[in-house]
Amino acid sequence: MAKAEFDVPELQEYVDVPKLVEGTMAHLSPFVAKPDHNTALGFPGELVDDWHGKVLEKLDDLCSRYRSLQVYLDACVKCGACTDKCHYYLGTKDPKNMPVGRQDLLRKVYRRYNTFAGKYFPWLVGAKDLTRETLDEWYSYYHQCSQCRRCSVFCPYGIDTAEISMAAREILDSVGYGQKYCNEIIAKVHAIGNNLGLPGPALLDTLEGLEEDVEDDTGVAVKYPLDMKGAEILLVTPSADFFAEPHVDGLIGYGKVFHEAGVTWTLSTTASEAANFGMFIGSYENMRRVALRIRQAALELGVKRIVFGECGHAWRVAYSFLNTLAGPFDFLDPRYPVPQHICEFTHELIQQGKLKFDKSANDDMTLTFHDSCNVARATRMGDKPGGQFDIPRAVIKAVCNNYVDMDHETIGEKTFCCGGGGGLLTDDLMEIRVKGALPRMTALQNVIKDEGVTHMAAICAICKSQFTKVLPYYGMGMDQIVSVHQLVSNAIILTGQNGDEDEADTDDDADGDA
Ligand code: SF4
Ligand code: SF4
Repeated sequence: MAKAEFDVPELQEYVDVPKLVEGTMAHLSPFVAKPDHNTALGFPGELVDDWHGKVLEKLDDLCSRYRSLQVYLDACVKCGACTDKCHYYLGTKDPKNMPVGRQDLLRKVYRRYNTFAGKYFPWLVGAKDLTRETLDEWYSYYHQCSQCRRCSVFCPYGIDTAEISMAAREILDSVGYGQKYCNEIIAKVHAIGNNLGLPGPALLDTLEGLEEDVEDDTGVAVKYPLDMKGAEILLVTPSADFFAEPHVDGLIGYGKVFHEAGVTWTLSTTASEAANFGMFIGSYENMRRVALRIRQAALELGVKRIVFGECGHAWRVAYSFLNTLAGPFDFLDPRYPVPQHICEFTHELIQQGKLKFDKSANDDMTLTFHDSCNVARATRMGDKPGGQFDIPRAVIKAVCNNYVDMDHETIGEKTFCCGGGGGLLTDDLMEIRVKGALPRMTALQNVIKDEGVTHMAAICAICKSQFTKVLPYYGMGMDQIVSVHQLVSNAIILTGQNGDEDEADTDDDADGDA
């Protein structure tokens, strides 16, 4: 069990809705961005003197630019349906971590300055003056929201707290009160091309190392190319795939799939990052600038297709916004989706019977699957509704003999966040990350106990990193989280691989049981 400087919730069979305890998380705020981080993103270096007027101006601006924001701020009827749906409330008992409580932090200021009732009878409608304390409260609690959108599934009006949280962060950034973790990372992407600040030569070195490892292991020369002009596919993947565990095992798997598919592919130093933290801070301008690198790389390399690796929010930005942010992609091959998810790519080959697997290679594991929030509630895969749930499961079942789902109330559209999404994957927010993981840890523990599950697979870099850190706080092993393409990598039989073909399972039923 990992040691914590805070109380780690005890796992029970069910997560009870806790009694409210005011202010349990009021002390927690992430580190504030340094001037360099802010200015690199086009924001003031530090909190401006005239922040009061500027905050209200920005709030007006956002309400007129995004009508949905104004509707969300106006429409809540305080029905209470969302109150027990946020993992952070369930894990912390703090009413300001209830979705409606979180929304109200911005709503009370909106009402005070933007509505007739709030201007003249503020006490009647819960309207409050904007003060420095308000700003600090926004900074604290809007960085305790992973923008997972679970609450919006249960709200009868579809109010999306994630969008309110993005707006609040955008307002804070506009007056120089940004979050260090997100802004530092976006600055690195602008300057170097990826979240980690990995320069081209280091990337090349890493990929050459992977080629050697795979060849030693399989006897097959699988390539992991960088900046290869004229390749058919540009793979855009989270930079964690280049070195972190279990992410890198997923990257090894993508390469093996491309190799067996007989396609040429490449990574790019210009777009060596799928993540787009511009979305987390609600900044259209930064999200666009980050997305444009992908267009630039695709044009420079002359590729015909773009495939995204395992990254949840990156898939949301790619699936929902890439064309608006960086399109049109009319220079790509129109026979393929733009963009395509690596799970769609692998699944299609499985359906066509083009991949051979030895499923017993994963027999040391009994798997379950964690649906990542952004994939589950903000995207799709394939051409059928629910493809984002079915396709990753179909891939897992094609390569593993032992699979069980967690409680249906905690997966699919109702999936619980890992606790580290939305720009919260930083050590200064460890307390909320651990407490917010409670519902997922509970569901996982139940299938471990009842079904003998040993590992949980995911297709999101943030989920994988978060679980690696958080599992030990709940008495589980950090290696119990795996990449979906790590499972593919374990089971795939490469043509000419160390004479293993005899044991191949061509997996005729691979697609039928998702
Ligand atoms: S978006 Fe997710 S983290 Fe944010 S309030 Fe809703 S349920 Fe909680
Ligand atoms: S469910 Fe929707 S309308 Fe009801 S309290 Fe929550 S945000 Fe307001």
